[in-house]
Amino acid sequence: MARSRQRAVVTGGAGFVGSHLCRHLLDTGTAVLALDNFATSAPDNIAALLDRPGFEFVRHDVTEPFPEIGCADIVFHLASAASPPDYLRLPLETLRAGSLGTANALELAERHRARFVLASTSEVYGDPGVHPQPESYWGHVNPVGPRSVYDEAKRYAEALTMAYRRERGANTAIARIFNTYGPRMRADDGRMVPTFIAQALSGAPLTVAGTGEQTRSLCYVEDTVRGLHALANSGHPGPVNIGNPHELSVRALAEEVRAAIGSRSALEYIDGPVDDPQRRCPDITLARRELDWQPRIDRTEGLRRTIDWFAGRTLPPAHTLSP
Ligand code: NAD
Repeated sequence: MARSRQRAVVTGGAGFVGSHLCRHLLDTGTAVLALDNFATSAPDNIAALLDRPGFEFVRHDVTEPFPEIGCADIVFHLASAASPPDYLRLPLETLRAGSLGTANALELAERHRARFVLASTSEVYGDPGVHPQPESYWGHVNPVGPRSVYDEAKRYAEALTMAYRRERGANTAIARIFNTYGPRMRADDGRMVPTFIAQALSGAPLTVAGTGEQTRSLCYVEDTVRGLHALANSGHPGPVNIGNPHELSVRALAEEVRAAIGSRSALEYIDGPVDDPQRRCPDITLARRELDWQPRIDRTEGLRRTIDWFAGRTLPPAHTLSP
């Protein structure tokens, strides 16, 4: 009997982006099975989803073979440490999630003849020599630096995805996600938006890494998950950049957060991380043309929603960051 409702598997479904993706899929009529081992997240993120019809959760490490999961139309593979402190703390786990985890998720998609969507990253461009970065740019990555555990895991995951597509005819897509922010980031995950917000809310100095002149382009999480869903629903193989092309310096972001909160915290300049990309901005021509997608939430609105969310919570003691 034909099923009336699509069903998606979301690995890393309890994470920051994954939990928003699960909610978005449920809101738009897709049933969801989320899998996660809570390596870098907590059950809180999905607590509000557990009672929703069509939502299921299984605790599972994607580097192990998948359990019997029932049917699947789409497999979104997000499971991986993603923030620099997390992947530097979990280097081998990060490489395993990108390699073994991606292979297991591809096998699962193939078994169910499901569409496979890889959550790759702008980090595949490394410290880019081309600006803004189109998908055709091959990147500038240090393969043996400390960040390589993440960058190269994702580059391998992209290569594996393309090999399944070419060799086995798998229905695959690659999304290159740029810096995403929003509610449910961990205040202590080391990424710049939650770090600046937590510092400004607690009156601590805002720690700007390096000169602060390095740039980032920030996409609100609702826009990112809409982009991932649009890619899943298209026939496009990617890679497709999913990000917000409004670029700003890290120092300017710190000042914006401080002004939005009305904080008098000082900016404190600290050493930048090794191999920190100096410029980061997506060229989203392809996503606009092929997915009819572009970000809708501007930074003022996105920061307001994120600050409101953090302001309603008990924050850990102030700490520093590595954006
Ligand atoms: P996150 O750390 O909040 O979420 C990742 C989730 O994966 C966590 O819930 C973690 O517990 C889970 N996980 C890690 N290893 C696992 C394993 N072996 N088995 C099962 N679950 C595992 O990070 P996020 O920001 O939500 O990122 C989600 C995905 O999007 C990642 O693949 C990341 O590389 C990609 N991405 C995110 C951004 C961003 O700005 N947030 C940018 C580019 C790419």
